Amino acid sequence: MSLFDRVELAPADPILGLTEAFVADPRPEKVNLGVGVYLDENGKLPLLDCVRDAESRLAADPKPKGYLGIDGSPAYRDAVRSLVFGDGADVLADGRVATVQTLGGTGALKVGADLLRQINPSATVLISNPSWENHRALFTRAGFRVDSYRYYEPALHGIDIDGMLADLRSADAGTVVVLHACCHNPTGYDLTPEQWDQVIETVRDRELMPFLDMAYQGFGFGIEEDGAVVARFIESGLEFFLSTSFSKSFSLYGERVGSLSVVSESADAARRVLSQLKICIRTNYSNPPTHGAALVTAVLTDGALRRGWEQELAAMRDRIKQLRRGLVGALEARGVTDMGFIAGQLGMFSYSGLTKQQMIALRTDYGIYGTDAGRMCVAALNTGNLGYVADAIAAVRS
Ligand code: PLP
Repeated sequence: MSLFDRVELAPADPILGLTEAFVADPRPEKVNLGVGVYLDENGKLPLLDCVRDAESRLAADPKPKGYLGIDGSPAYRDAVRSLVFGDGADVLADGRVATVQTLGGTGALKVGADLLRQINPSATVLISNPSWENHRALFTRAGFRVDSYRYYEPALHGIDIDGMLADLRSADAGTVVVLHACCHNPTGYDLTPEQWDQVIETVRDRELMPFLDMAYQGFGFGIEEDGAVVARFIESGLEFFLSTSFSKSFSLYGERVGSLSVVSESADAARRVLSQLKICIRTNYSNPPTHGAALVTAVLTDGALRRGWEQELAAMRDRIKQLRRGLVGALEARGVTDMGFIAGQLGMFSYSGLTKQQMIALRTDYGIYGTDAGRMCVAALNTGNLGYVADAIAAVRS
């Protein structure tokens, strides 16, 4: 008799499980459109030049590997805060923001969820329908009841803003609302500035707690344009949580570099919040790793490296847009004329509108892996596989 006899075998992670199936697939023409990772024209994960240069500089001046503080590197935190709130923003000067370095965007969400659970344990968490799979799992695991608000409307190939606002309006005060700041995962549909204003007004009226998740800054319209939603929340005077990630924008997936900022009403509240965030971190993993944050800090604070990063990020963004247009064109050439909406979606993902059966057929008949819900990572297409993918979609649609 072992204690572990009672341990049930958990199902594979839905997205990472797809990758396992992809790796095991022997067909050379297979395409993995499952995970949210940007691949270059050769189907390879890029190492950005700015990161390579920053890495060379760090290697040329090696440092001892001491512990960082619980809340991470001060230089990194300053760099992130300038990036997301703006250099010298009043909210920073007023001391109203508590920022901690986290293990990617996921780590930021979890630290934020743990703090929220401590300060408002009976709150419900609302996520968009649909949302990134891990939102529900992570907030549930943190002890919350998780429900959803209406978001994607298949018939519109867009957002059901009236449904979303109605669901927010009927939420209890204190409800945590997880909002994708830009490049909504999985649909690729973002709120317009006017719709953000409506959401902010509703959040204020209903006294909800917004949790902005910004994992794709720079992949929509640009670094500033995508970050504008943060400025909107600051302007509104609301308190809110903000998680950010450099996994995608720096192609630093495995380095686990992110941040959590909590914007409070006063500097005193921010100090108390920071003290509690530090306890959440200390009792989980003590303090974050050094290397990835040092790379991001080096790039963000050096004029030439920063310009290089902005150009490389713009190139990734523009190439994804080109791939979207390329896919739409290739589909049209094969007689599929009703999928033009893919070109207008934002970020790495496309909600293709394909059914579960069609997605399964893509997988089993063609070795093309997307989620059952029809999500495809457009950022994993290239000129070599685009025609094959278009052939396969046209075939499963016929
Ligand atoms: N939030 C959303 C919406 C995401 O899509 C992702 C990653 O796919 C994350 C957060 C987590 O990012 P990270 O890999 O930095 O933990």
